[in-house]
Amino acid sequence: MTLPVSRVGLIGHPIGHSRSPAMQQAAFDALGISARYELWDTPADQLAQRVASLRAPDILGANVTIPYKTAILPLLDDLAPDAAHRTGAVNTIVCEQLPTGIRLIGYNTDTVGLRIALHACGAALRGRRMLILGAGGAARAALAVARLEEAEIYVAARRITAAQALLAVSNADPSRLDTVTSHALALDDTPQLASALAYTAVLINATPIGTGDPNALPLPASLLAHLPPDAIVFDMVYNPPETALVCAARARGLRAAGGHSMLLYQGAAAFTLWTGQSAPLATMRAALGLTF
Ligand code: NAP
Repeated sequence: MTLPVSRVGLIGHPIGHSRSPAMQQAAFDALGISARYELWDTPADQLAQRVASLRAPDILGANVTIPYKTAILPLLDDLAPDAAHRTGAVNTIVCEQLPTGIRLIGYNTDTVGLRIALHACGAALRGRRMLILGAGGAARAALAVARLEEAEIYVAARRITAAQALLAVSNADPSRLDTVTSHALALDDTPQLASALAYTAVLINATPIGTGDPNALPLPASLLAHLPPDAIVFDMVYNPPETALVCAARARGLRAAGGHSMLLYQGAAAFTLWTGQSAPLATMRAALGLTF
């Protein structure tokens, strides 16, 4: 007898470069789950229609990527009380099948993925500084991790107003218990950036700069000289695996990692939310071509 096939998909635009289908399909297949992971490339004017199409019995859920991690919020029924509320960004949707109908719940597994990836690099953030480059959806996950780790936060964005707005939303979160300080910077304010880097324990690139371009850097390589010698540079970009930022940091003797580990752990957390099963990490790692 043929089992009915459930579906999960990636909502974003453009998404042809995504590694999630290979990773998630390998995980479904390894556990014998009859499910297919699809690419749902969605132009902005079709986002509402796409989300409505998730209310079908064969859909387990979805991933959400650039540029819809915040735009998708009003189209969902609820947000998970943890990371999705804290970040105001959703990268995973779970379709809850209830007798009364299907409810779409938003989660943010980028937060858990980044947190595990940073711990794996040996990052110790409590009371130390995280400097985040970029103020979009991925920066929100980094900000949530900084709050959870009680790190001091700097956000540097090409539009300082975007960095300020991001921090204002996060500071106003009524569930916040921490008292950490936060600061906004302009990405092209080199003197300020240099001063901020001097006390940074973890520098995170949460811009897409470097994607598909092995020479593109989100900040001048010379600025990395201001980082303390025990600083960690984490690039969320995972294509190429060794970005110009990662290479420049390593050339200065700093610890540095690209975004593959975050991709793996956010994907594993999403898999568990959709299926209720532990993710087969070794299989997912192999599907991504990772050796760590
Ligand atoms: P997003 O919401 O579009 O935000 C991108 C941010 O980068 C915005 O602040 C944007 O500024 C800024 N930016 C874009 N191009 C820039 C440029 N040329 N110079 C300076 N700033 C620039 O995107 P996102 O969802 O945060 O994703 C950011 C990156 O993280 C993507 O490459 C994504 O693939 C990666 N990511 C990786 C993982 C992983 O698992 N490894 C998870 C999540 C995201 P404006 O607002 O001014 O445009």
